[in-house]
Amino acid sequence: DRPATQVELGGSLIEETQHPASEPLIAICGRPNVGKSTLFNRLTRTRRSIVGDEPGITRDRIYGEVEWQGHKARLVDTGGVIPDDEALIPSEIFRQAQVALDEADAIVMVVDGRSEITAPDVEMARLLVRSGKPIFLAVNKMESAAVAMEADNFRTLGFKEVFPVSAEHGTGVGDLLDAVYGVLPASETPTDAEEEATDDEVTNEDEPKLHRTHGEFDLHETKIAIIGRPNVGKSTLLNALTGTKRAIVSPIAGTTRDAVDEVVSRGGHDFRFVDTAGIRRKGKTTAMAEKLSVIMARKHLEASDVALLVIDATEGVTALDANIGGYAHESGRSVVIVVNKWDAVTSNREDKTTPGANQKVYAEQVREHLKYLDYAPLVFISAQKSMNVPAVFREVARVAKERRKRVTTGEMNRFLKRVDFQRASVPMSRRVKIYFMTQAAVAPPTFVLFTDKDVKLHFSFERFLENQIRESFGFVGTPIWFKTKGRN
Ligand code: GDP
Ligand code: GDP
Repeated sequence: DRPATQVELGGSLIEETQHPASEPLIAICGRPNVGKSTLFNRLTRTRRSIVGDEPGITRDRIYGEVEWQGHKARLVDTGGVIPDDEALIPSEIFRQAQVALDEADAIVMVVDGRSEITAPDVEMARLLVRSGKPIFLAVNKMESAAVAMEADNFRTLGFKEVFPVSAEHGTGVGDLLDAVYGVLPASETPTDAEEEATDDEVTNEDEPKLHRTHGEFDLHETKIAIIGRPNVGKSTLLNALTGTKRAIVSPIAGTTRDAVDEVVSRGGHDFRFVDTAGIRRKGKTTAMAEKLSVIMARKHLEASDVALLVIDATEGVTALDANIGGYAHESGRSVVIVVNKWDAVTSNREDKTTPGANQKVYAEQVREHLKYLDYAPLVFISAQKSMNVPAVFREVARVAKERRKRVTTGEMNRFLKRVDFQRASVPMSRRVKIYFMTQAAVAPPTFVLFTDKDVKLHFSFERFLENQIRESFGFVGTPIWFKTKGRN
């Protein structure tokens, strides 16, 4: 007997790490196939969440933004399990509930109004209701007023209020949102007008954000920083990579006047070299040039996806190289180590017939000095002689793809079962048990671990886990981040 309102909503997908923390968070939970993705898509007005009957398709936690009556909130679809893998459902229910309870200001639990109440519905309801958080039950797939009556059957799950909705058609969604927004804390997000006043020059921000949320899209553009100490050959490399003929110089709006990017298109992929004026800028004295190289590295990392860390092969890895490499690692950007001036090294050698063997030894030395960048591919080039420059493009394209890769929760659960954690050399007192693990973000890949203890992971344990993940899933070139959520 509720009016069948069709709702039109404003909203978008947002990157988990980019949302303003002041916006309240609404979590959507429910067992597989009840219509969580469909509801998420309706609320955020996107089509990004995977919907439907493709068997074996899993998805991970997806964040978006919903706007209702002029108020913004963040939305998380906690779903993500192989629908036909019954064995995984109990752990999945626990995981979703945990995410929702940890993070959300309000929770919408979705059930399928066209089917009977199932054991997982009951289990999830029990976990959620106990928490005392505001929870709303959306009984989905209730297209007509006649079937909407059936929604009352779901009151036995223990919720005070029950909302018959049709995620597919939008029916009842407005009433649900009215109720949910009624309990949300007020958002401190600036209004659109205020936002426009602060970054008026940044336009068309929605698209890249949309893309970044998922990592399932075709890569179109990768932003590249060329970093390194003075005289390693950064400018020469830039020239070799862009070549005057192919380069399109495009100043981007919103950056300072001398910040100019150059874009090279190869194989349908755009390589955008950020702030090329900055790469060519030289300090007047050695000390000034060195300081400038660090400042520029940090600035360029900020604006990029992938960093080319340029090393001078004739000098090997210096303390300043290691310092700049450290910033690259910490920034969460992907890294390709470029050993430049290889021509000068080989011309000094008597045995020129086995450069391969020589490179292997050299690479080991470089790695010894840049231990934390062990995930970064290494290429030997001569920027000046244009030797092996295409390998740089190849590696950039590869690491850009790897950095946006998503491991599904199903795969992750199977991985966890396989790994023998006894092998990690961690003191007994610092061992944790991982119940579940999920990839919460891409670029860089970020994993959330649900553990028995609420402690920071021991260094060796984290290292062990990282190595195991890389062995199974790759993630070449990108750092991997971890977050722990312990049971208290
Ligand atoms: P999830 O696994 O909970 O995210 O469920 P999905 O959003 O993928 O939806 C599962 C199936 O239910 C899909 O085939 C949807 O088309 C269908 N579905 C979702 N919402 C509705 C609805 O409001 N009415 C009907 N009839 N079907 C729906
Ligand atoms: P930046 O300060 O890092 O931008 O370095 P530059 O590109 O200005 O190069 C510094 C010096 O190294 C210049 O004299 C270049 O000619 C030289 N150089 C750059 N790349 C190579 C290379 O591949 N081989 C050799 N032998 N010299 C190079």
